[in-house]
Amino acid sequence: MQCQICDKTITPKISNNVEIFSCTGCSGFWIKKGNLNKLIAHASGDIEFSSIDHHMHKDTHGIMKCAFCEDQAMIKSNFIEHSNIILDYCEKCGAFWIDSGETDKMQNYIDSIDKSDKKPSIIDIIFKSLYSLPK
Ligand SMILES: [Zn+2]
Ligand SMILES: [Zn+2]
Repeated sequence: MQCQICDKTITPKISNNVEIFSCTGCSGFWIKKGNLNKLIAHASGDIEFSSIDHHMHKDTHGIMKCAFCEDQAMIKSNFIEHSNIILDYCEKCGAFWIDSGETDKMQNYIDSIDKSDKKPSIIDIIFKSLYSLPK
């Protein structure tokens, strides 16, 4: 298998117990349906399903063809709708192409949602502990 971005060889490997098909050149990778949910830690809900829309988002590269399907053009999907992290997605088999560095961006985005939903900010914690000090 050859990379459509940089023409180098794609090889299967295991990352965080998940099988990915990684490019030796640009460090982008293919990931099969269901595995993106496993790769992104602490994701609540189905992040793959939440990331599939049918708008043609702008991306750093053009339309790719799915590595696992015969002659299937991928669509551009916005990760969790509003993140502006644009993923290539195959509507036929559910595979994603993930550009180099996008895993970190996705993880950061998930972590920031987690924080804003549930956890108090560090400022809140500092203020609460100040008020609880004996006067
Ligand atoms: Zn590549
Ligand atoms: Zn496919």
